Amino acid sequence: MGDTKKEIAVTFWGVRGSTPCANKENMEYGGNTTCLEINVPGTDEILILDSGTGIRNLGNNIIDRPGQIQGRIFITHPHWDHIQGFPFFKPIYGSKNHFSIHMPDQGEEGGCKDILDGHLTKTFFPVTLDMIDANLEYVTQPQERIDYNHYEIEFMLANHPVRTAVYKIHIDDKQIVFCPDNELGALEDQESTFQDRMKEFVQGVDLLIHDGQYNRKSYKEKRGWGHSAWEHVVDFAKATDVQRLFITHHDPDSDDEKLLALDEYLQVEYGELFIEVGLAKEGKEVLV
Ligand SMILES: [Zn+2]
Ligand SMILES: [Zn+2]
Repeated sequence: MGDTKKEIAVTFWGVRGSTPCANKENMEYGGNTTCLEINVPGTDEILILDSGTGIRNLGNNIIDRPGQIQGRIFITHPHWDHIQGFPFFKPIYGSKNHFSIHMPDQGEEGGCKDILDGHLTKTFFPVTLDMIDANLEYVTQPQERIDYNHYEIEFMLANHPVRTAVYKIHIDDKQIVFCPDNELGALEDQESTFQDRMKEFVQGVDLLIHDGQYNRKSYKEKRGWGHSAWEHVVDFAKATDVQRLFITHHDPDSDDEKLLALDEYLQVEYGELFIEVGLAKEGKEVLV
């Protein structure tokens, strides 16, 4: 049996967007790409969102658990920074272990298994899917709310260049929304119904983890790239009565000095509006 914590706890194992950045000036916030673990009370099952390079440390953290390790990995979309760590997640090499891997349908590119199969070919990497020992199940996640016993998950599609999930996890009466890649745009940009759907989806959640790779100024040159300015995220979280807000998918060129200054600013400026607000940091645990 693993350690079964009583609280719903979210741990950030990777908070970078685009590419890992193992530079000394990035070590405080962390250089690994997107990966999140949610501790679900009452079960030993591991719940993971995205398998960027951060999933390697997560795997190393649980690999020595006695007995079978089982769980689910919900991948938002197949961009490198969200799948690159997958073959370095050691529990998939234990024949007793069982994981199911979920991803939204990718249209002509296929479903979850097609995507991972295409990623792990001999040209790019020595390990292919058939060499993985654990019992793996590949699920092309349907767009409906599904009950997995101790939690339920649903998703809506993000505003991002490929089909990308914004996952909403329901645990008891708590709700967590994970949205690492999404171009929100300014609140006043109301030309599409996207923001309305997103508002409805996020309204009042206990924890929102959202892409804030840019600021309003740098966003101007990167409109249409599928990422948000942090100012837009804060405005959106205020408008939707989100309880806790963590901004993630930090730009690899944002060093610790820059991120620390923004983190402090968020707490001073918006600390009263949220139970917790700030930047996602590798190793940080948020209790919900
Ligand atoms: Zn990304
Ligand atoms: Zn992406």
